[in-house]
Amino acid sequence: MEYEAVIGLEIHAQLLTKSKIFCACSAAFGGRANDDTCPVCLGLPGALPVLNRAVVEMATLAALALNLRINETSIFARKNYFYPDLPKGYQISQYDQPFSEHGWVEIPTSERDEQGRPIEWRKKRFRIRRLHIEEDAGKSLHEGQDPYSYVNLNRSGVPLLEIVSEPDFRSSWQAYDYVQYLRKTLQYIGVCDGNMEEGSLRCDANVSVRPKGETKFGTKTEIKNVNSFRFLQKAIEYEIARQIEILSEGGQIIQETRLWNERESRTYSMRSKEEAHDYRYFPEPDLPPLKVNQEWIAAIRSQLPELPEARRERFQKQYDLSMEESMLLTQTRSMADYYERVVQACGNAKQSANWILSELLRELKNASVDVANCPVKAEDLGRLIQLINTDTISGKIGKEVFIKMFETGKPPDVLIEELGLQQISDVTKLQQIIDAVIEANPKQLSSYKAGKTNLFGFFVGQVMKATQGRANPQLVNNLLKERLG
Ligand code: ADP
Ligand code: ZN
Ligand code: MG
Repeated sequence: MEYEAVIGLEIHAQLLTKSKIFCACSAAFGGRANDDTCPVCLGLPGALPVLNRAVVEMATLAALALNLRINETSIFARKNYFYPDLPKGYQISQYDQPFSEHGWVEIPTSERDEQGRPIEWRKKRFRIRRLHIEEDAGKSLHEGQDPYSYVNLNRSGVPLLEIVSEPDFRSSWQAYDYVQYLRKTLQYIGVCDGNMEEGSLRCDANVSVRPKGETKFGTKTEIKNVNSFRFLQKAIEYEIARQIEILSEGGQIIQETRLWNERESRTYSMRSKEEAHDYRYFPEPDLPPLKVNQEWIAAIRSQLPELPEARRERFQKQYDLSMEESMLLTQTRSMADYYERVVQACGNAKQSANWILSELLRELKNASVDVANCPVKAEDLGRLIQLINTDTISGKIGKEVFIKMFETGKPPDVLIEELGLQQISDVTKLQQIIDAVIEANPKQLSSYKAGKTNLFGFFVGQVMKATQGRANPQLVNNLLKERLG
């Protein structure tokens, strides 16, 4: 029997606010353990939460970017459970009246071949069930001397968005492409840094399978604790195969939470449905309903930048790029801005794309530098492309100049002058060099005259060598042809 996978994703994104969601403590990552705390985020009795306005602004931006409908009134709710990193004994979240609902994204997605290369990009719509606001818990550390554990409450009260998809994904790669896109969008609008390794973006995957053609969903499992995109894809793939195997052998899937173990490349059962929490949600009595009006929404909408998929599509059309190129060039907002500035400076969209995707990306990667801090100004790269197109330097020397530009941050004209790299297009000068080369190689000359015409390349090479590659190659060809007859 053929099976089909059904996947839904729950994403937690840490917001880039300066302070926490309900107090004035710093929300920054990496402070000394428990320094960034106060009675509110320590959950001391009697301390009262006050909602951070910046959190609502960022939630609004994110909801609009993901096409969600924002509820004019939403309600904070207590999600009750006991854990040492949750001093209040409950998390303030949202439950049956969330901040926003019914969103979607329409994005390119593709299966991958054995080498992980995309096979064919196709646009698909994935629905988003809800996006709500909540606070993060602290962090338990089970390290150091047994039997002790430690707790760091710096993260307690850091604002989060929880973004829950509909079960619309039918393969691990669709899920992968969706998470990548969500991350990119949150970064574009500046609300989350998207760092999965540091935990500022976390993703839980719900996975089930069903016989192809069946309309009812199968029993799902939930995979938690995956801390990279690639692991997420692998964990889902593993889980699909595991479930298909059980069903094919006549078994049944148990609804449970499973953990991904990267070292062993498999998932493990963490807890079954019977042990699942009953959170006893109820409305948070210490916070009023959250109200946002249409004016607020319109004001924030006007701050939205061009979103990644819209920008990618525009790049593809306007600059005549491939899907792959347009995706790479819109990977981050700084990259897309950089590209457009290079195009502006040199007037050639294709060459700009080629230079960035080969030379620039290689140098950035080697130096572990982000394009936002690129030592080569976009205008200077554009100028370099112009200098090549106008034959001031050859393409080959252009690549050497580019590496020097990356090392020194100097503009191309300055470097070409300093290093004396201008292309030699002076006919008289080139003729002198050609004469010298011919004089120095009498044997090759007589062989050539005797019919070994493939020695032509030898002479070209000698002239290039004599000029350290600076001779205008087209001109050398013409002059040599004249001279050798
Ligand atoms: P729960 O009550 O277990 O939290 P929800 O209905 O709230 O389940 O859905 C949680 C997530 O699981 C959502 O992202 C949803 O799309 C996804 N989901 C729900 N049912 C299934 C299923 N049968 N297979 C895969 N994913 C599912
Ligand atoms: Zn605090
Ligand atoms: Mg749920």
